[in-house]
Amino acid sequence: MEDVGKVIRLIREEMKKHGNILDEKWKKIDKNPFTVLISCLLSLRTKDEVTAEASVRLLTKYKSPEDLANAPLEEIEKLIFPVGFYRVKAKRIKEISKCIVEKFDGKVPDKFEELLKIDGIGRKTASVVMAYGFNKEGYIAVDTHCHRIPNRLGWIRTKTPEETERELKKIVPKEYWKELNHLFVRFGQTICLPISPKCSVCPVEKYCKKVGVKRHR
Ligand code: SF4
Repeated sequence: MEDVGKVIRLIREEMKKHGNILDEKWKKIDKNPFTVLISCLLSLRTKDEVTAEASVRLLTKYKSPEDLANAPLEEIEKLIFPVGFYRVKAKRIKEISKCIVEKFDGKVPDKFEELLKIDGIGRKTASVVMAYGFNKEGYIAVDTHCHRIPNRLGWIRTKTPEETERELKKIVPKEYWKELNHLFVRFGQTICLPISPKCSVCPVEKYCKKVGVKRHR
């Protein structure tokens, strides 16, 4: 599939034009494996802006697994509100922090398989932590955008994010793996929207098979 790299580069160029207004917010937090992990847990089914603001409120007050393991649950809930499922997430964040303190000496483990052993951490979160928290190569974090877009493009035909991760690793050159999640998330929020994508302004329209796209503009 010789177009894959080209399509990724075209999307990368387009996304540069869109910038990211949230960058300023993220700068308020120290970027490390723990803050990447907590932000990723907060982001599920939550708008980026809400995630960024909640992450800043929580992680500027509680900076380490130990801090969060000892933080009162109601305080965590208050700080992360209104992220989706904030009560469930507050509990999960506290439990994961406790587990890191008790089983991993207070440090986020830097092995993918070890991360997966922690209750509440799935493949996507573990991949995000490895790629963006530890800056390691070899991971593709597949979320809803990263699953939908390559299927629409016609690169793969998969049903689950796990399958998508496996198939993408076969066709995407390794040099692009790390940026793929961030690129597709931005692209999925701005142009290749879940419902009615903006194909008329899409930089990769001529390479796209629009699989499953019923309505576009
Ligand atoms: S052409 Fe449409 S469906 Fe295909 S990638 Fe672009 S926006 Fe998405």
